[in-house]
Amino acid sequence: MDYIMPNRMDRGFYQYQKEFENKAIEVLRSGWYVLGKEVRAFEEKFADYVGANYCVGLASGLDALWIAFRVLGIGAGDEVIVQGNTYIASVMGITINGATPVFVEPDEYYNIDVTQIEQKITKRTKAILVVHLYGQASNMEPIVRIAHKYGLKLVEDCAQSHGACFNSKTTGTFGDIGCFSFYPSKNLGAFGDGGAIVTNSAKIADDVRVFRNYGSEKRYYNKVVGTNSRLDEMQAGLLRVKLTHIKELEEEKRGICLRYLEKLQNKEIILPQIRNGSTHIWHQFVIRTKKRDALINYLKQKKIGTIIHYPIPPHLSEAYQYLEIPEGSLPVTEDYAKSVLSIPLFNGMTREEQEYVITAINEWKN
Ligand SMILES: *Cc1c(COP(=O)(O)O)cnc(C)c1O
Repeated sequence: MDYIMPNRMDRGFYQYQKEFENKAIEVLRSGWYVLGKEVRAFEEKFADYVGANYCVGLASGLDALWIAFRVLGIGAGDEVIVQGNTYIASVMGITINGATPVFVEPDEYYNIDVTQIEQKITKRTKAILVVHLYGQASNMEPIVRIAHKYGLKLVEDCAQSHGACFNSKTTGTFGDIGCFSFYPSKNLGAFGDGGAIVTNSAKIADDVRVFRNYGSEKRYYNKVVGTNSRLDEMQAGLLRVKLTHIKELEEEKRGICLRYLEKLQNKEIILPQIRNGSTHIWHQFVIRTKKRDALINYLKQKKIGTIIHYPIPPHLSEAYQYLEIPEGSLPVTEDYAKSVLSIPLFNGMTREEQEYVITAINEWKN
């Protein structure tokens, strides 16, 4: 068996090679490379896919997050509630605007523990940022209720949850703005960087559309100090191709993960769980073990790669030392950072590769 990488993005390309290549040539030959018909068509299709009124394509998931808070008017002096165990980009989306993240512990599904949100709300709290981590929809019903009760904005980080639903409603449509990343490794991944926001508000969609293009609606007339964050035609075109296959791609990954759930059996590891009412689109298959270093080394010897999502929680990273949140403040978050491990999972993973991973993990004795 060759080395099994934790993710293989080329396999997803080869599954639809001809379609991607045809689209790439079409865009190259079109003579129009930024903000054109491919972006418009993708925005329309993606809005339909998530069930939102509007989608605005952007250059990355991080841009989607910080621009979301910017157009909602959240900045210095404001607090935003977010789970402690997220990818640091979620937090940067808040702090780039000068706002302060207030961390809440995760539940056993790796999403925000809804029972701990209200105690973190202060006079300064302006928004909740929900992260549907690893691809599973968060427990949205109580979150929406809390946001309404306290008059808070609700933003969703859907960088890992394209198409995941809570009670049959798609993530990204529960609050004011849903933020997406199309980084190549994501479930709907481009062949470079990309992102988008979705919203039901025409005003928010217009504001983001203006903001992404130097604050200009009409060429060379600038309403606000904006930025350059445009999804390009090539990525939009290739994403449009991929979007037509997203259900197959999702089902393929789900099949792999259901097999993992059924067959992985080792008393040293804790398997991921699926919440009642939530769907999981399996961005990552994340297990937990107290003996993580030993398992990583054992799997490395078996030529199986793994990744830790994420080894340092944002509040303990060097970048956020200024927040002065000491180690020990978020025990569940910190415990997860020490014990989570993502095992190989990607579109195009063969049955043989999967069986090899399952056997290796089941035979692991520490
Ligand atoms: C990938 C990711 C982002 C950032 O997306 P980029 O496109 O890389 O900027 C934000 N939040 C989460 C949860 C992510 O996984």
